[in-house]
Amino acid sequence: MWRGWCRRCPRCGEPTLFRAFLKMAPACAACGEDLEPFRADDAPAYFTIFIIGHIIVPLVLMVERGWSPSLWVHALLWIPASLLLSLALLPRIKGATIGLLWALRFKPR
Ligand SMILES: [Zn+2]
Repeated sequence: MWRGWCRRCPRCGEPTLFRAFLKMAPACAACGEDLEPFRADDAPAYFTIFIIGHIIVPLVLMVERGWSPSLWVHALLWIPASLLLSLALLPRIKGATIGLLWALRFKPR
């Protein structure tokens, strides 16, 4: 899972898991491990929403309680924060999910 989090092949650890931002390579270019069967599907998006929700919502509540800014300030703070966190975490969470599927040999039949 850690190798996947680092966007690396779960077998050899080379940075070959993705061929684009979120596009998974069909096989590792370094060791030839077939990665095609280990499809994370929508799970990384759900995990990302879950994690970011648990980061952003408490921050929104703390800022609201502490300073009570107007709604446009909230929008200026939390929309970019949510987008940046999503872009930062989604490929890592997808890699970790693929790493977990690989470790469990979880292939569709
Ligand atoms: Zn490899």
